[in-house]
Formats: sequence, structure tokens, C-alpha cells
Amino acid sequence: MSGGSGGCGDGRRFVIHKHDARTLHYDLRLEVGGVLRSWAVPKGPSTDPREKRLAVAVEDHPLEYGDFEGVIPEGEYGAGTVLIWDAGTYRNISHDDQGEDVPLDDALEKGRAAVWLAGEKLEGGYALLRTKRNEGKDWLLVKMDDEGADARRDPTSTQPASVVSGRTVDEVADEEGPDGREDGEGR
Ligand code: MN
Repeated sequence: MSGGSGGCGDGRRFVIHKHDARTLHYDLRLEVGGVLRSWAVPKGPSTDPREKRLAVAVEDHPLEYGDFEGVIPEGEYGAGTVLIWDAGTYRNISHDDQGEDVPLDDALEKGRAAVWLAGEKLEGGYALLRTKRNEGKDWLLVKMDDEGADARRDPTSTQPASVVSGRTVDEVADEEGPDGREDGEGR
């Protein structure tokens, strides 16, 4: 750290989309370098530091996509229902073995990163650790052991709704899906 011009960039945005596509998953998105770096987390994030959650790196998304909640039509990439399960800001807390701060893009490049999330449901440090599996696309998302850790919480099941609209996946699908606007037959 040692002062200077904002290299640590606090207050960048994170979003976790709950995405009911072919299989339900959660997409963790971090604003890095003008895009949303993204990982698909099949089981969603945990607040238990003993849980290692698979997080598969997927393509970057544009920043504006962080605001998206709705239904992606059949036939399009990611077809299914999306809601904003958690959102807020994050700080990079990545460091090397000597305890020196590491910029987030370097940490991600090296496959060992840590971020402090300040969301509505999630709070505290999360490590992102790249594995060798799946051509290096498989990462592990692990809650760090800090005041935001709580092995008894299970927010993906007890807090299923959108932090923006309060809606569940079914409510978003009903209100915004093709069946929700019944102008007529066959669509
Ligand atoms: Mn997805």
C-alpha cells in the first residue's frame, strides 16, 4: 500500500446474479479494468470458510450488465431468468507471500486473489483461487475467516430474493417472461 494514488481502488462494484438457466447457478461479477470479470458459481457463495465453492471463469460482461434483472429469451446466450442476488462494492485485499499488496488484475493473472465484499448479503473477505482443472477455468471461491464468516448462515437458501426488487426467480420469470405478457396465443 504505502500511500499514493488510489491503486487499491476501493469502491469498485460487484454483483452476484442468480441465474436460472439450464441449471441454476450464481454469477459473481467484479468490476475490473472497465469490465465485469465473471465466474459462474454452481452452488453460489458460502459464508462458511470450510466450504470451497467451484467458480468457473466465464467471459467478461459489460459494466451495464450489472444492472440487468429479467428474462433472457430462449435461443440466446444464457437463456433463463436473472436476478440481482447481491450487489455492493468491493476492495482488493490481494497480497503476496511477503504480505505485500498485489493489484487485482495481477492477482487474477496469477490465480490467487482476494476481495473484501461490502454487499447486502455478503460481507468480508473472499479468496479466488485458480486450479489447474478445466484448462485453468476452474477456480475456488472461499470465504475468508473474518467477522463476515458464519458457518450457520446459508444465504442462498434463506435469502433467495433480489436485493434490488425483492423478487424471487419465479416472480421475475412471471412478470418479465414471455408467459408474463399474454397478448395472445403462441408467444
Ligand atoms: Mn450465468
